[in-house]
Amino acid sequence: MPEKTVSNPYHIAQNRIRTAVDKLGMPDDVYERLKSPDRILEAAICIRMDSGHLKTFYGYRSQHNNALGTYKGGIRFSPDVNADEVKALSIWMTFKCAVVGIPLGGAKGGIACDPRNMSSRELESLSRGYIRQVGCVLGEKMDVPAPDVYTNPQVMAWMMDEFQSMYGGRYEPRVITGKPLQLGGSPGRLDATARGGCYAAREAAKTLGTETKGASVAVHGFGNAGQYAAILSEELLGSKIVAVSDSRGGIYNEKGMDAQSLIDHKKNTGAVSGYENSQPLSNKALLELPVDILYPAALENVITAQNAPDIQARIICELANGPITPEADDILENKGLIVLPDLLANAGGVIVSYFEWQQNEWDGEETARRLERKMIQAFKQLNEYQKIKENVTMRQAAYMYALERIVETMRLRGWGEFV
Ligand code: NAD
Repeated sequence: MPEKTVSNPYHIAQNRIRTAVDKLGMPDDVYERLKSPDRILEAAICIRMDSGHLKTFYGYRSQHNNALGTYKGGIRFSPDVNADEVKALSIWMTFKCAVVGIPLGGAKGGIACDPRNMSSRELESLSRGYIRQVGCVLGEKMDVPAPDVYTNPQVMAWMMDEFQSMYGGRYEPRVITGKPLQLGGSPGRLDATARGGCYAAREAAKTLGTETKGASVAVHGFGNAGQYAAILSEELLGSKIVAVSDSRGGIYNEKGMDAQSLIDHKKNTGAVSGYENSQPLSNKALLELPVDILYPAALENVITAQNAPDIQARIICELANGPITPEADDILENKGLIVLPDLLANAGGVIVSYFEWQQNEWDGEETARRLERKMIQAFKQLNEYQKIKENVTMRQAAYMYALERIVETMRLRGWGEFV
């Protein structure tokens, strides 16, 4: 297969559905029905930059499937955003919601831009411009966005406000999740993705007969998911953080580094590099460290056929979406390590988004308690399902398990003639 096909996340997502359909012996029509998003909107968003010039950015919203419930998925601001990436991410949302048993469908959005080189005013104009262009397909009962790479509660607040302006000032807090607390956000949403991942890693360690106490941890991508993974790996798992990295490179200290002071250092300097008592480490070397738990928490396709033979982690917990290519999956499988697939490992974010969308009363403790229950339940169900199906990886089991739920729901709704 040419490398281009292998690294295109949309083709990867489609291939993974294809494999699940075949393994379950489902008719080809199931693949035909689910291989493409129901709808994708492409928008040109023209805003005035601080320089005084107009600049056009391209944004997308992909709605994959809403058999299980309202379309749901984050919005990403990143230079590499494109239609295929957003389509793939929307497919993964459909399957993720099905894996963890929440009644939501799958969507995703994004804008090709580099927020690190934009002022707050420019980001606000872009966020509002995006909503003016795609707001016609959003709504609390239609499609509900949330934060993703390089977006945050402030961006969600601007978007919610713009949506409200579009509809004559009607109060519409449920159009978006991941909002600031003052605007109806959920306590515990910021750390939810990482918290869910830590619970999954803890359950996985139990199946290996080991403990996470004292376990060594490496975090690839020290942003929202990665930073909270470091904090919570210390707090919840008793593990030690030996390496972290961001887009500018990584650092290492085999004795362990304090997660909160790493976060403070990144906040103050803009990067993890230069942290006291640490040695520099490339992103490539970080991924290949012999650690107990590795959290890929940045972008897609970071573990490929090239570096998979050198991966030494015992548990890989995919906080990022699609960090491992299918070829790398095969290599890792033969090495006997545990890969907690993104469909399960990073589902904490959408679970707490679902809580936020449903209600606004639980405090952080209650939210965390319910998230823990859902993650443990999802892990156990998937683990059991994998055993029953025999000879499938946990990722394949996740796709198959989700597919059965999605197809059953479509059948009940009377969609398509394949069932
Ligand atoms: P973020 O923007 O907060 O952080 C991304 C981090 O990755 C940054 O620290 C950045 O420096 C780093 N990074 C970027 N390119 C890199 C590279 N080439 N090598 C190493 N590091 C690099 O984003 P986030 O919200 O933490 O999302 C990270 C991943 O988690 C994404 O795949 C996202 O889809 C997934 N995810 C996020 C959520 C959520 O709730 N935020 C939920 C589910 C999944």
